[in-house]
Amino acid sequence: MVGDASRAEQTLNQARELDPVTFELEVARRAWENQAGNKDEVLARRQRVSSRLGAVAVAAPDRSDAWIQLADYLRALGNHEGALKATASGLKRDPVNIELWLRRTRAQVELGQLDSAARSLRHCVKLAPTHDGVEAMVRVHPTCTKCHSLFPTVGAQQCGHCGADGPARGAPVGSVRFARQSKFDIYFPKVRDVVATALDMPDRIKIQLTLDTLLKRHLKRSNQQCSRVLKAMSEEFGVAFDAPLFNSAVIGFLDILIADLIRAIDPVTDKSIDTGIRRRVLSNA
Ligand SMILES: [Zn+2]
Repeated sequence: MVGDASRAEQTLNQARELDPVTFELEVARRAWENQAGNKDEVLARRQRVSSRLGAVAVAAPDRSDAWIQLADYLRALGNHEGALKATASGLKRDPVNIELWLRRTRAQVELGQLDSAARSLRHCVKLAPTHDGVEAMVRVHPTCTKCHSLFPTVGAQQCGHCGADGPARGAPVGSVRFARQSKFDIYFPKVRDVVATALDMPDRIKIQLTLDTLLKRHLKRSNQQCSRVLKAMSEEFGVAFDAPLFNSAVIGFLDILIADLIRAIDPVTDKSIDTGIRRRVLSNA
């Protein structure tokens, strides 16, 4: 035990020399998890930890990890206003950080700012459509069909923004995922899986694929690889392809091929994804 403690101490000292912010975050984590003392003492300690961490984050505003940890601690202390401010400060320097955006959305939900929360969550969906945290939040917070705000929970009685009936009263609900989404956004997760499997991509590569990386970079691939993707897509979407569009798909650049193939899918005949989703595609078309 003594050996462990001194080794831990040594690690901390090394961290301090290498990177003082990481050191502070680690010290804060240990103090936060320290359960010694009664409830009031633990709470008082945690309040001290979060104020110190606040000062650390202000002194190193580029460190998104500090703002994320601070937002988590403030939320746990019930200080949602503080958590919202922490995410705003972090996003000023790191505007595409999905972890910060998710925490911002959550703080807005807690504060009852449900229309702002809907905007933030739409932004999350755009930034990282397949992120687990985004998926979970979209599922837990359907949207009001009248004003497009988020419902605070799936079992909400009414919309906290406009007062319309909520899912608990049997009212139909929407989802930020389907607001102004194109066929490309909606078919992306399925297409990504098909392409990743056809090209034997390792999972860690697959999860990094976004719609942008699939469609906007010129991914030169061999004709053989393009053919594999074409075959896999045909097996998946088969009869749903519009024949003229499908036949004009260009082999050579993988991104162009994938874009052509998604364009060729006819959501009316496609049976590979949920009918509710297809209905949305059609109504947005
Ligand atoms: Zn509403």
